[in-house]
Amino acid sequence: MAYLPRTRLSTTSFISLFITTLLTSTLSLPEELFSLEIGTKIRFDKQSLMSVASDFGNLTKSTPAAVFYPSSSHDIAGLIHFSYTHSTPFFISPRGHGHSINGQASCSDGVVIHMESLGQGRADRINVSVANRYMDVGGEQLWIDVLSAAHAHGLGAHSWTDYLHLTVGGTLSVGGISGQTFQHGPQISNVLELDVITGTGQQVTCSKTHNQGLFNAVLGGLGQFGIITRARIPLSPTPEKVKWIRLIYTNIVAFTRDQESLISVDENERLFGFLKYLEGSLLMEQGLIGSWRSSSFFPKNDMQRIAQLTAKHRLTALYYLEVVVAYDEDIAAEVDQELELLLDDLSFEPGFEFTREVTYMEFLDRVHDGELKLHKTGQWQVPHPWLNLFVPKSRILDFDAGVLKGILGSDKANGPILIYPMNKKKWNSKMSAIIPDEEVFYTIGILRSATNDNLEKMLEQNKKILEFCTMEGIPFKQYMPHYTTKEAWMEHFGQKWDKFLDLKMKYDPKGILSPAQKIYTFLLEEDYII
Ligand code: FAD
Repeated sequence: MAYLPRTRLSTTSFISLFITTLLTSTLSLPEELFSLEIGTKIRFDKQSLMSVASDFGNLTKSTPAAVFYPSSSHDIAGLIHFSYTHSTPFFISPRGHGHSINGQASCSDGVVIHMESLGQGRADRINVSVANRYMDVGGEQLWIDVLSAAHAHGLGAHSWTDYLHLTVGGTLSVGGISGQTFQHGPQISNVLELDVITGTGQQVTCSKTHNQGLFNAVLGGLGQFGIITRARIPLSPTPEKVKWIRLIYTNIVAFTRDQESLISVDENERLFGFLKYLEGSLLMEQGLIGSWRSSSFFPKNDMQRIAQLTAKHRLTALYYLEVVVAYDEDIAAEVDQELELLLDDLSFEPGFEFTREVTYMEFLDRVHDGELKLHKTGQWQVPHPWLNLFVPKSRILDFDAGVLKGILGSDKANGPILIYPMNKKKWNSKMSAIIPDEEVFYTIGILRSATNDNLEKMLEQNKKILEFCTMEGIPFKQYMPHYTTKEAWMEHFGQKWDKFLDLKMKYDPKGILSPAQKIYTFLLEEDYII
């Protein structure tokens, strides 16, 4: 069976020769590499290799042949160019903060680039231009450091992730979503310019208007087309203080209806300007594992009546809608007025509205506190069989019934479960990220922590969830996708599959970059080429 138009076959056959060499050789890096300056930045010691063998998911182990510690983007370009032009090219994978789940940044038998060493001891990797309202940040920088640098000027990015100890390059390679996405789009919709090193070792500056093809390919491109070494992020003034509100629901219909109504607030309405975030979650038992993403939000005194509400409705979990509004002193009265109107229109359980006033910085970095607590108890390092899906609005009730109430049943208390909507129009369809084809779709984050005893069960449940969606014809997409067959990848990319192949051949023609995503490597399967 042929999957490529015939016009592409000669190129495919040609490059497959190189890639077959890549895949079949057990790597020992070419001698000549070590006579170059970049050769001195490669390490093979056990500690270096082990430090990149696993990731946050803690589900896989894959040791590379070597780890590369670049001091500049020039070093990275040199390494890639060396591999690309060598008779036996080798795989190269950038590793940001290693917060993938399924070994996506690993590089069995190849070279892992320790991206964070790019920024070590270098203050010049983050530059804020107050006059131009943007900042230039290294691809290796953590979003928490981006936040601190911008905040010093009263500015901030438009779109964040819930957790900020992730690298800029790492989240721009997947999308970067959170409670701001409904309003401003994912992080990939909020980038002005990039510096990228392609799979040939070429350093290219790209933007919406300049080298647009590479710009769109790299954003959400799962590391397949180039390594992001700099991103220009637009900034705007941020509030000092916010009101952080959680509203409890017993009913999925009311919960989703209210969320959908909030994300459709018109940009000209006053409320739109105040709104800073919207998400939703299941509310389960409040042990540390269940609530680490914002531990201790609900007042202890209220926990009993919340539990009674669950029992009264014979539920295994409640839902809570979470909104955040700007709340600086000079606008507080106005916001209070808007909020009153807003809450009047929502159908949460009367008396189950909880509010906290915090600084905007505290809110944005809310998840880190839970991380520190889990580190203390050794629960941060456990396996994380996370599953993130985008589910179209039209099927969210089916998903709730079949998965949240069905497959997961009463088993939900092993980690947060997020459920919140976003607007398709805020995503750019030219970029590589894949989303469902419906105007509104939900993010479902099943973010569970496992023990050796229940890991298999959770992995089995994840499998059942995907099977359920397929059998019920729910046109979901995985966020941070993990597939193990070529057919599944083709299904994932849908109409963009051919475009993906074209772009791969253009920007990484020898298939050197980020092989652990296991997309392009399927090209080598015998039946792929006619
Ligand atoms: P890595 O895991 O190191 O790499 C991920 C992929 O990107 C790999 O394929 C790698 O080769 C490639 N890559 C890394 N750096 C670069 C680069 N500079 N250029 C090109 N490719 C590169 N995601 C959200 O969207 N929203 C969230 O709120 C959110 N919260 C999270 C909370 C936790 C605790 C964790 C563990 C993950 C969370 N994620 C979230 C997922 C996260 O965005 C992705 O896993 C992201 O890829 C991790 O970034 P990283 O820097 O650790 O990348």
